[in-house]
Amino acid sequence: MEIWNCGISLKVKIFIWLMVKRRIQVGDQLRKINWKGDPTCKLCGLIETVDHLFFQCHVAKLLWVFVAETLGWKVAIHSGKNFFELLLNFKDSKRSAFGLQILGGSWVI
Ligand SMILES: [Zn+2]
Repeated sequence: MEIWNCGISLKVKIFIWLMVKRRIQVGDQLRKINWKGDPTCKLCGLIETVDHLFFQCHVAKLLWVFVAETLGWKVAIHSGKNFFELLLNFKDSKRSAFGLQILGGSWVI
């Protein structure tokens, strides 16, 4: 619910909602509906899942480390669980900016 109440564009809100629901069309999801394309990540060759795309691929890890270093976070986002825990904690205005940075990082990926 916090996603729908924050001040970001609707397309980013929908994107994050799809990510939370694991409905983003990644290779693994497309394979389940008999997609004939290559289900591997184009950056590293591993099976492309939502977790892989946003947290496990070396490119995603690099982005999250960069975001953490730039913003002075003590720890970079490293898993879906960690992402959602952080996202659910931005209810007050101070945390809201923090949450927007998390959402922005996700959108960039
Ligand atoms: Zn990858």
